[in-house]
Amino acid sequence: MASSKSYLSTRGGSSGFSFEDTVLKGLAADGGLFIPEAVPVLHAGWETAWSAHSFQELAFEIFSLFISPEEIPPADLRELIERSYATFRVPEVTPLVTLRGNDRLHLLELFHGPTFAFKDVALQFVGNLFEYFLERRNRDKPAEEREALTVVGATSGDTGSAAIYGLRGKKDISVFILHPKGKISPIQEAQMTSVLDRNVHNLAVVGTFDNCQDIVKELFADSEFNARHKLGAVNSINWARILAQIVYYFHSYFALTASYPGARPRFVVPSGNFGDILAGHFAKRMALPMDKLVVATNENDILDRFWRSGRYEVHTADGSEAGGIPADGSKAHPSGVKETLSPAMDILVSSNFERLLWYLAFQADTAPTDDTSTRQAAAGAKVRALMTSLKQNGGFAVTDAMLQLARADFGSERVSDDETVDTIRTIYRTSDNPCYVLDPHSAVGVTATLRHIKAVETAGEPATHQISLSTAHPAKFSHAVDLALKGIEGYNFADVLPEEFMELAVAEKRVENVAAAESGLVKAAIERLLAGEKAAATAVAE
Ligand SMILES: *Cc1c(COP(=O)(O)O)cnc(C)c1O
Repeated sequence: MASSKSYLSTRGGSSGFSFEDTVLKGLAADGGLFIPEAVPVLHAGWETAWSAHSFQELAFEIFSLFISPEEIPPADLRELIERSYATFRVPEVTPLVTLRGNDRLHLLELFHGPTFAFKDVALQFVGNLFEYFLERRNRDKPAEEREALTVVGATSGDTGSAAIYGLRGKKDISVFILHPKGKISPIQEAQMTSVLDRNVHNLAVVGTFDNCQDIVKELFADSEFNARHKLGAVNSINWARILAQIVYYFHSYFALTASYPGARPRFVVPSGNFGDILAGHFAKRMALPMDKLVVATNENDILDRFWRSGRYEVHTADGSEAGGIPADGSKAHPSGVKETLSPAMDILVSSNFERLLWYLAFQADTAPTDDTSTRQAAAGAKVRALMTSLKQNGGFAVTDAMLQLARADFGSERVSDDETVDTIRTIYRTSDNPCYVLDPHSAVGVTATLRHIKAVETAGEPATHQISLSTAHPAKFSHAVDLALKGIEGYNFADVLPEEFMELAVAEKRVENVAAAESGLVKAAIERLLAGEKAAATAVAE
């Protein structure tokens, strides 16, 4: 029987995984991503029963649908949730604010966690989950037999700090985050390097972000090094991250319908790796009432091009092949990614898109009369073929039936840097909250909502309620915010700076320099720092 508490790989290679396996492995052995074998069916009356729930209570109800109580007993799950969201600065965890009541435009603020970006919602929980599973595996084991996990990742900013804050101080876990020395924003660098917990290590590598990513890939591919240190990742494909993000779709729906009964919102999501909006897709499959999910991309627009054409193809924003130099001479990464004002969405391919593909293939390309496992196997085979084509030919096209299904659930918009800046300015001047400052990622989403407002106005249709997801605090992206607002009377960037950021400037920092982008140097640094951690721990124990 297909269960929502047991997991399979999108490439069809394996099934029957527990939630714990899914979380600790991250990626399936066949290269696929984990999804639940079935989407849970909500009990009748869920809407009334859950309508007054807090974020934490909703998280408990939703997580319980995807995690067997034999794996995590309910009391433990509640405790994990409480601890994960106690680090947020507001009681609602993810508050909904109305930007313009007349236009039915609302903003879901996801940036009230420790690093001021939406990734905290997932990574605060994932860090506690890792620790929980390891603690249980290590219970009653003598010190020398304890399983330890070494989390390694590369960052150009946002993910690294959220991972560090999720894992700081966790027992039996060490975390190493590589960043290109001097090439990330000063705020993000300070956020990471001011975390002084003994298990946290920042490696500043002389090189580029691509160098850092390549080194991390090399470490994972080195089976001997990997096995010796039990490498783990917290990248955006971990199922637990998607799961945690489902909660705020429900939470914001209830916040909206408390004021506007019967509303079926349109959710607009600034997208890069497709993790945030994929959580919305699960909410929709679980029957959360909504109009559509709208993908909003910046000029790295592989997703927008897919919804327009049915083709998923890697190429740069200006149409050149990946790795080529844009004809207009604009700034492009050597990898072919275009550098925009919303850097956390600068991607060539969206890693979580594979999960949506599986559902499209399952529904469109298999006969509903076949039994579930036959259909699952067929969907897995289809996804495997498409991903092979992506790797070998740089792209693929889906069938008409798959594209129709994708368009039934999703809309899509592409937003330029100029429009992003305009929107920050427009909202500053015209929101119901005087002088509301958007960050550039959130502004990509809001640009898409403004287009929709204009379109329905022109057509003479009634306005839909729109919930636009706000993924970062504006203080993290001073460059874009200043571009938009500098010179406007009354605007002063210092006014948007939270107290925590002022303290960062003078905080004590710890960082390990790596003199060249060579995996050998990084391996040596990791082994030396791990040995240091162990020695310090023994000293304390004695
Ligand atoms: C990661 C990130 C995004 C993109 O989210 P995906 O899940 O990758 O689509 C958008 N905005 C900010 C600020 C982010 O950090």
